[in-house]
Amino acid sequence: MFFRLFSFVLSQMVWALAGYFLTFRDSPTTGILLGCIAGGLFWVVWDFTRGIRVLEWLRRGDTSLVAVSSGLWGEVADRTRRLIKLKNQKIQESDTRLQLFLSALQASPNGVVLIDASGRIEWFNQMASAHFGFEAKRDLLQHFGNLVRDPTFAAYYTEGNFNSGVIMPGRANSAIHPVRLSVHVHPYGDGRSLLLSNDVTALEQAEAMRRDFVANVSHEIRTPLTVLSGFVETLQTLPLSEAERFKYLDLMAQQALRMQNLVSDLLTLSRLDGSPLPGNTEWVSMRVVMRQLEQEAQALSNMLDLPMPDNQQLIFEVTPDIEISGSPSEILSAMSNLVSNAIRYTPSDGSIHVRLRIRDEGRVEFSVQDSGPGIAPEHIPRLTERFYRVDRSRSRDTGGTGLGLAIVKHVVQRHGAELKIDSATGHGSTFSIIFSPERVRIKPAAAVLPDMTVNA
Ligand code: ADP
Repeated sequence: MFFRLFSFVLSQMVWALAGYFLTFRDSPTTGILLGCIAGGLFWVVWDFTRGIRVLEWLRRGDTSLVAVSSGLWGEVADRTRRLIKLKNQKIQESDTRLQLFLSALQASPNGVVLIDASGRIEWFNQMASAHFGFEAKRDLLQHFGNLVRDPTFAAYYTEGNFNSGVIMPGRANSAIHPVRLSVHVHPYGDGRSLLLSNDVTALEQAEAMRRDFVANVSHEIRTPLTVLSGFVETLQTLPLSEAERFKYLDLMAQQALRMQNLVSDLLTLSRLDGSPLPGNTEWVSMRVVMRQLEQEAQALSNMLDLPMPDNQQLIFEVTPDIEISGSPSEILSAMSNLVSNAIRYTPSDGSIHVRLRIRDEGRVEFSVQDSGPGIAPEHIPRLTERFYRVDRSRSRDTGGTGLGLAIVKHVVQRHGAELKIDSATGHGSTFSIIFSPERVRIKPAAAVLPDMTVNA
């Protein structure tokens, strides 16, 4: 303000002095008066010019260049510049914060869609783009309801009751690869809404598997239980001869054994599900395992009471002294399941060949080859599913539970091994477990034998 007053007075004084000298002291009062007026006018024009420069500077919006540096206009320009700088800083800060929030939403494992008050998409993250097939360029500001046309979702969206979510198929859903999404709309602010989507395909599949499993177990137990209670009733109510009683008791024992086998297999599966992975410290001698398998096989083959004419031919190849690291009970259970299947599904005049061979790169293959009925190719991928059976009646008649190969697969996976099934209808089957070299230890004497045994 002082500068303004000072410049005004100075301008008048200079011009008054000029007026005084220009009139050559003939009429000093008039000269000074005219000079004062001219000085005032000059100051107004000068001040106006400075004001215009500040205005133009503001219009240009380039705050880096200073329009006027002194006086009232200088201060106006300076304060304006500082104010704009402060505002810009604040905008930048909130922009950074917004970007941080959006990055957090982007990192969310859920699909996130922000919808404005008129139902148009304002923003969505990559997961939502995968779930609904959105494209940023094409779909931003489009109406969400126009892009997602699933009838279940459409009914949910129009009804507007968002207390819970809704399950709908995802964009990539197909008959072979189902994709199920859980979608929940959360209203907020002034009519806006936040839509969260979550891929629940695996959850739904697990739930379906759990339901099937419970239904299968109930079914498997109900059948022998019904038969058992029928026999009990018969024994209680009918006068039976000694021979008949023995026959019924024998049948009852078979049903009880069937339930026992089922419970035992279920317990094995649950143990496999819940126990830690087998380590690499315990070594299992395959010589011992093969000897035990042979004894069990012989006993089972005799017990099955297969129709004549012949007994099954069981061949257990003499094995090199190999050790496999892992859980002894699991390894024995898996191998024993394969041998028992071969015996149960091979007719009495057939043969079963059990081998342990050293393969390339130090891998070891345990294989059970039978001359049984073989398995059609469409069944092979499903054999390891729980309760999946090709020959239902043969499985039941021979005490099968439908869980044997599921146990084998589990054990094989837990030991980092591979299960191979080679079979064709009418040409027998070969089930093999291939152990990786990390789990194999070959005793020095055995190391000389591999070629002989591989080609055997
Ligand atoms: P199960 O207790 O019924 O034998 P598994 O899981 O061990 O159950 O086997 C599943 C199905 O695979 C069996 O029901 C049977 O139909 C078929 N299968 C398994 N091993 C053989 C085999 N060696 N020869 C023919 N079919 C087999």
